[in-house]
Amino acid sequence: MENGNGSHAEREEIQEAYKWNLKDLFSSDQEWKSRKDELSDRLLLLSDFKGTLNHSASELKSSLDFYFELKKEIARLFAYASMYSDQDTRQSVPLSMKQEISQLETRLSSLTAFIEPEILQIPEGTMQAFCADEPPLRLYNHYLADVFRRREHTLNEKEEKIVAEAGLMSDTPQEVNSILTNADLPYKTIMLSDGKQVRVDPTNYVFYRASPGQNDRIKVFESFFSSLKSFERTLGTQLYGQIKRDTFYKNVRNYDSCLESALHRDNIPIGVYHNLIKNINDNLPNLHRYLVLRKKMLELDELHYYDSYPSMVKEIDLRYDYSEAKEVIQKSLSCLGKTYSDTLEKAFSQRWIDLYPNSGKRSGAYSEGDTYDVHPYILTNFKGRFDDVETLAHELGHAAHSYFSNKTQPFVNSRYPIFLAEVASTVNEALLVDYELNRVTNEAQRLSLLGNYLEGFRTTLFRQAQFAEFELQIHLEVEKGESLTGDKFTELYQNILKKHFGHAEGICTIDDLYGIEWAYIPHFYYNFYVFQYSTSFTAAQAIASRILKGDENVVAAYIDFLKSGGSDYGIPTLKKLGIDMLSSIPFELTMQRMNHVMDSIEKLASV
Ligand SMILES: [Zn+2]
Repeated sequence: MENGNGSHAEREEIQEAYKWNLKDLFSSDQEWKSRKDELSDRLLLLSDFKGTLNHSASELKSSLDFYFELKKEIARLFAYASMYSDQDTRQSVPLSMKQEISQLETRLSSLTAFIEPEILQIPEGTMQAFCADEPPLRLYNHYLADVFRRREHTLNEKEEKIVAEAGLMSDTPQEVNSILTNADLPYKTIMLSDGKQVRVDPTNYVFYRASPGQNDRIKVFESFFSSLKSFERTLGTQLYGQIKRDTFYKNVRNYDSCLESALHRDNIPIGVYHNLIKNINDNLPNLHRYLVLRKKMLELDELHYYDSYPSMVKEIDLRYDYSEAKEVIQKSLSCLGKTYSDTLEKAFSQRWIDLYPNSGKRSGAYSEGDTYDVHPYILTNFKGRFDDVETLAHELGHAAHSYFSNKTQPFVNSRYPIFLAEVASTVNEALLVDYELNRVTNEAQRLSLLGNYLEGFRTTLFRQAQFAEFELQIHLEVEKGESLTGDKFTELYQNILKKHFGHAEGICTIDDLYGIEWAYIPHFYYNFYVFQYSTSFTAAQAIASRILKGDENVVAAYIDFLKSGGSDYGIPTLKKLGIDMLSSIPFELTMQRMNHVMDSIEKLASV
């Protein structure tokens, strides 16, 4: 949908069939507004419930019904405003709608702040009696159990107030870091071999680090990392501030470690984290095999860290128009059964998808599943490359997960856990690549598909797990009472990086300057979030391997997994599917797939 001059079509020029239908949420802006005003009035009724939750089972249930009804309604209003805004970000009307809803959300959370403390005051025996008296309260079993699970680490009212006040300061290290690294840091400008002048800031670093010419890559790396290096002390003080913050919350909430404190929120056993790091370290030879292959494919005598990003296979322009894309996606996912195919068909034909780019439209892609009574939506910027088909399959994975979950679960259990967020999407990608590899016969195209798939193992699995290892180590240092400075972070990071990349074995040379890389990774401010990219990826590869073996029981279990939404925590939900994240089996299946991809590349490229 791009014009000849490279700019995008105007939204009006795009046929309705390729635009999502937000009218399924609200028939008009007017309807949205009246529903919002109505909701705003209903918030006032919340005060009637205050102090009643422990009276009886039925009063508890009506309070929770009312609370979750409000949450559901607000989610729908928000989804409409934010998608409306994303379809043309230049419009001011949807922006102000978004702001109105955000204010309403803030009001809702302050007006409902009494709910959890009141629930926690109900003695356990009374709660059991409530549940026996009022079977419909069973709807909230998981929610209530979760509130009680967190009780041990919930403080008294006065203390909770102090912790909340501390929250006003606690984001400062991250905020300062973001401003420094994104805006204020004086990045240098370099000249590339084609005469182009480039200021090597984080955005340009990501783009130009994949330059085909090695001399350009060296320049880009040198420039970027030396800019960071000149602020090593400041950047180190910021990160240390963040870890002190995490340590503060661990201490006041009585956890044994920062890791436990972070993982407790979603009830993930710390063994899952340790297991990932152990599996990665046991399997570094597979990463080293990848690096040796990269060196051969790029025809280099020696592999350096700055050679990590250029594509190691010739990128072939595999093109798909939308109808071909739909067909390939349908066929590649047909192994998931009829209900799944029917869901995809609905997504395609009932305007769930906003497909093409247009002027002012938000870039990238996402799926919006917070539309409980309606259907999920998808935004993409489809241009017909293989990447775009892959992205569409990925987002359809999220959308199908939301669709099955929203249809099956009560609202309170409909949102699937963050730990599982990337599983369904990654399963779809794996099935798509597998299907295309069976379909495409042209060798260069096959090589391009394989190379593209292989990068996922390195960037989503190994690299994120390497970050996770560093994140754990720096927290452990502070928990031991060590203080950390910029140069110490660099030393710790460098040791992990060198180990992962086989520096000592001569597999990939890591120049000392690159030990500062930690300073540009925002994830270290996300409190043990990043490992979930690796675990989701591993779980998904294991599921895809089993589905591809044609076991119908696995397919049925997978659909049940999608339907289960947020009715249980991530780890037991996967376990029902036969995926035990505390074992090494999912990881081994993933490694088998990775090695299989490398075998195929070596054979095709005769290296
Ligand atoms: Zn995703």
